[in-house]
Amino acid sequence: MEQKVRELIKRQLHDWSAVSENYAALGRVQLREVELDQSLVVLQYNPQRRRSTAAKVDEASLKARPCFLCRDNQPAEQEAVEWGSTLKYKIQVNPYPIFSQHLTISALEHSPQSMMKPQRFVDMLELARLLPDFVVFYNGPQCGASAPDHFHFQAGNRDMLPLCFEVLDDSLWPMEQRIEGDDHGFIAFSNALGRNMFFMRTTEELIAQLYCVRLQVAMYEAYGDAEPMENILCWHDGNEFFVVVFPRRAHRPDFYGEGDGKMLLSPGAVDMGGLWAVPVEDDFNRLDVDTVRNVYDQVCIDNAGMIKIIDNYFKR
Ligand SMILES: [Zn+2]
Repeated sequence: MEQKVRELIKRQLHDWSAVSENYAALGRVQLREVELDQSLVVLQYNPQRRRSTAAKVDEASLKARPCFLCRDNQPAEQEAVEWGSTLKYKIQVNPYPIFSQHLTISALEHSPQSMMKPQRFVDMLELARLLPDFVVFYNGPQCGASAPDHFHFQAGNRDMLPLCFEVLDDSLWPMEQRIEGDDHGFIAFSNALGRNMFFMRTTEELIAQLYCVRLQVAMYEAYGDAEPMENILCWHDGNEFFVVVFPRRAHRPDFYGEGDGKMLLSPGAVDMGGLWAVPVEDDFNRLDVDTVRNVYDQVCIDNAGMIKIIDNYFKR
């Protein structure tokens, strides 16, 4: 499967001129770094991402537009690799990249963005194992997804995401912050990187599935028996599975917008992972550590919310 995906990327970047231009432009973008606690946030001035950041995701707007993840509405040049056993997906090159290799993995059927089927976690982990150079990620319907009406994961080369390196530091996960564990791995929580998160690592795929589903149920209950607001990032290094879950409390910061002290920021999993695609040049230049911290504080769950989820996890 990895080989098929590599060939797909190569073919699309060669044959589809609009997209090869977008990837070439990504190679020339301005970057800037901001240090937040023990973590790094890489800012990427990326005007192409405006369509995603500024996407209207209310029900009326979604109904009024043709869904860009449905095959019938996609350009003739856009190819797909089909994948999946129980649930079926098409793997495609994302035409508006943040990563130098950026994939969209969407359901074949037009069906809502939701992680409330355990099979979704099974699929996410398997995708990560099959694509070891990639981080597979998921944006909840009110947490950065620009097509919340059509189920999709995304994936990008993980060497571009600071979080994938930072979480490997064992000092972030002292024993008293571990929720569950065995000889093969653990699930833990931390806010040492300036935002609350759950982290799991294990060599065992079944244990990884178990941690993911248990956490999802604990979050479901903490969100009042509703689909939790969340971003999920997941990868496999050839030996271990790594999953990071960010429970969210807001879709966008209260200064979301353009002009007059506002900024066009709509954080999703990649932003949670420490790579911010900023579509407005003025925002890119103005962003500093205080603003970065403020955005994470506003959109990530607070400590009380974390405690609630952890209590629910232990109750089960
Ligand atoms: Zn669709």
